[in-house]
Amino acid sequence: MTCNLCQKERDLKNSHIIPEFIYSSLYDEKHRFHEISDDVKKKNKMPQKGIRERLLCLECEQHLSKYERYASLVLNGGYSITVRNEGRLVHLGNVEYLKFKLFALSVLWRASVSDLGVFCQVKLGPHEEKLRIMILNDDPGTEYQYPFILSPIIHENEVQEALIVAPTWTRLENHFAYRFVFGGIAWVFVVSGHKAPNVIINASINRNGELTMLPWELSDMRFITHMAQKLAQQSKL
Ligand SMILES: [Zn+2]
Repeated sequence: MTCNLCQKERDLKNSHIIPEFIYSSLYDEKHRFHEISDDVKKKNKMPQKGIRERLLCLECEQHLSKYERYASLVLNGGYSITVRNEGRLVHLGNVEYLKFKLFALSVLWRASVSDLGVFCQVKLGPHEEKLRIMILNDDPGTEYQYPFILSPIIHENEVQEALIVAPTWTRLENHFAYRFVFGGIAWVFVVSGHKAPNVIINASINRNGELTMLPWELSDMRFITHMAQKLAQQSKL
């Protein structure tokens, strides 16, 4: 079989689309994880395993695991990032641009190459191949390429770590935007051949290792466009 990343003929591993570490804190005592549909009122579905698919060879899995280990440490507070609050915004610093950005882009890319129904809204067209080459070459691209914003999802003053929602796409001005929810955070990627709105680029991780998060109430989470507007208001950009 052909590995989706290196495109060599190799045995393929049963790869995660969304990395294992994201699920690890979400499993209950019976090793089922909590997944809910986009309509948070619907009954929770409880798949028995993290979502896997034969996508990558062992070498490419190991390549991506470098990013995943790093992102896991950042997201779980096991790495010396700096945190500064400004109103509702949370500014992170000392985050490695290359590893953190390529982690995020690798999740986006995996969802695009996946044939699983849960990722059917993530189809990146020509950007899929661009991302493949960037990931393969350890190239995080410029700050303008594929920016993304993070919004921790808050409900009753707690981050909702157990929330996983099937990714969805929407339009943000003239761009495509894809929203993933995992690890207690909504990850909104702007995928476009043109320059994304400044508010998105300014909040996305930059080469100085800084990024800005906007905590978001669970009840409002379906509105990506509102998220961008709120970010613009908060940061006065
Ligand atoms: Zn490979």
